[in-house]
Amino acid sequence: MFENLSNKLNTAMRTLKGKGRITDVNVAATVKEIRRALMDADVNYKVAKEITDRIKDEAMGQKIVIAVDPGQMLVKIVHDELVKLMGSQVQGINLKSEPSVILIAGLQGSGKTTFSGKLAQYLKKSGRNVLLVACDIYRPAAIDQLKVLGEQVEVEVYSEPENKNAVQIAQNALEYARKMGKKVIIVDTAGRLAVDEAMMNEIAAVKEAIKPSETLFVVDSMTGQDAVNTAKAFNDRLNFDGVVLTKLDGDARGGAALSIRHVVEKPIKFISTGEKMDALDQFYPDRMASRILG
Ligand code: GDP
Repeated sequence: MFENLSNKLNTAMRTLKGKGRITDVNVAATVKEIRRALMDADVNYKVAKEITDRIKDEAMGQKIVIAVDPGQMLVKIVHDELVKLMGSQVQGINLKSEPSVILIAGLQGSGKTTFSGKLAQYLKKSGRNVLLVACDIYRPAAIDQLKVLGEQVEVEVYSEPENKNAVQIAQNALEYARKMGKKVIIVDTAGRLAVDEAMMNEIAAVKEAIKPSETLFVVDSMTGQDAVNTAKAFNDRLNFDGVVLTKLDGDARGGAALSIRHVVEKPIKFISTGEKMDALDQFYPDRMASRILG
């Protein structure tokens, strides 16, 4: 994960490692390299600038130039800033109401349906009675896909293949969940290939109708800056609660993971690292920073 970024950051910092005497000039040059590494990884320009300005201030403030091991000190400073950038704390999902409604939003192909199946399994393993809801009224294949996943993870799937009203399906599913004593319902919605008004209107209407305790925005981490722009568009409209980053097993460059939290001010809550149902993890900013720094 993020090998390129890891290599570049480490190369940048290596110039300070083992140096007996360093100067402010060395530090400034290293910080510039760090900024370049972040931008090469598709980190948003403003984010890269802000974080490296802070790294520089911290490094100077902590008198890195007279430290015994300036390289090590800088690694710690960079690590801590990466953690801060990604949100510091692990953020769980809100499951207080009963049934708790979790709405899944995102573009087509981002990994929504796969994530819905994974989340269903994850919550089922923690002892909850879960219902999956297929709310994609445009692609019958999407309903079938969710059914297959539901079978795999042994979670019931609610669908109304003939109904073309997503709001109604969601409301009916909620009613059904109440009747059946389900504790959590996960509503997988339709996505489009790009942000469009009709999709936003539909999902906003579903949200309004079923009042989820948690709205999760799913995004493909391989799409870099686009991931951040899409997140912004969805957040402006839906005011979601958290982000799910998918396809981190691919060769994503790291930009989305590092920028999203800062740009939309919403935490990353889960990461998806494969097509299998157990390839899901909660997002730990600290672990991610350690991974990035190798
Ligand atoms: P949706 O259109 O948003 O519902 O997206 P899907 O869940 O259908 O996922 C689109 C494609 O990406 C499928 O082929 C999934 O198997 C694949 N996929 C989803 N999540 C991941 C992931 O974390 N890693 C990888 N490698 N593939 C994934």
